[in-house]
Amino acid sequence: MTELSFAFQPGDAILIIDVQNDFCPGGALPIAEGDQVVLVLNAWIDAASQAGIPVYLSRDWHPKHHPSFTEEGGLWPVHCLQDTPGAAFHPGLHIPPEAVIVTKGTRFDQDQNSAFDQTGLAVHLHKASIQRLIIGGLAEDVCVLATVLDARTEGFAVSVIVAGTRPVTPEGSAAARQKMTAAGAELL
Ligand SMILES: [Zn+2]
Repeated sequence: MTELSFAFQPGDAILIIDVQNDFCPGGALPIAEGDQVVLVLNAWIDAASQAGIPVYLSRDWHPKHHPSFTEEGGLWPVHCLQDTPGAAFHPGLHIPPEAVIVTKGTRFDQDQNSAFDQTGLAVHLHKASIQRLIIGGLAEDVCVLATVLDARTEGFAVSVIVAGTRPVTPEGSAAARQKMTAAGAELL
């Protein structure tokens, strides 16, 4: 996809979740085809930028000894360590100069799958008069799902870029889509 026609409205924003090297093939916690979201999301980012629609990108940004790591009793291998190449955004991702980065996963007492989890993002978006979030990124059944559900709870309309996300597992994808739809999110 190189060109995109979508009827952006004032109050829209794009929110791209965790398109980082460690979540792509070759990374520490690779998601199958994780890198294939880049071209799709770039089309959305470019179209949004041209339309004056704000772009937000979240990143998983863990300190050493983060509680989500298996060595600490968590679920995941060590990934997205702060300031390492694995934590960097995929090099092909278009990041407009005006884009806002949302950092999560920095706490020692718990993981933060959602970009809204104790980041203050909802407060900022409401202040910026954002009403609808168009969300894509990685992974569909973990951080995208958690972010979409929180966005709905916070009162935002949500559209999910289905072609711009990939799950950890196919079963997880099916369940995530069901939960997102049940919460009132639109699947694009
Ligand atoms: Zn993480």
